[in-house]
Amino acid sequence: MKTPDGRECPHFYGDYYRGRNIEECRLLKLHGQQWTRDLCKTCPVPDIARANSCQHMQLKPVVARPITAAFQRRVQVNAFCEKTKRDVSEPQIGCGECHSLPFNFEIKE
Ligand code: SF4
Repeated sequence: MKTPDGRECPHFYGDYYRGRNIEECRLLKLHGQQWTRDLCKTCPVPDIARANSCQHMQLKPVVARPITAAFQRRVQVNAFCEKTKRDVSEPQIGCGECHSLPFNFEIKE
């Protein structure tokens, strides 16, 4: 479903049927974090979901106020692989277990 800023996010839920106006982030809700609409605009999750759909990777979001964002609320994400039981440093790429990198190219003459 599309977030208030227009990006596709698998964790956003909106119900506007018959005048309802219910919106929530189910990822933040699952992790006990408070969601507000403005968080979607800078959230890294839609880009991660678009780049990597690995079923073993779990995202753990935290709402923080980083210095780099002038102390404005931002979603920060840590990723964990349930298959290898280790942290994923680059969630867009993955841990490399299922889809190993770099690819081997064979040049035949
Ligand atoms: S805060 Fe992030 S994860 Fe939650 S609905 Fe918005 S874009 Fe998706």
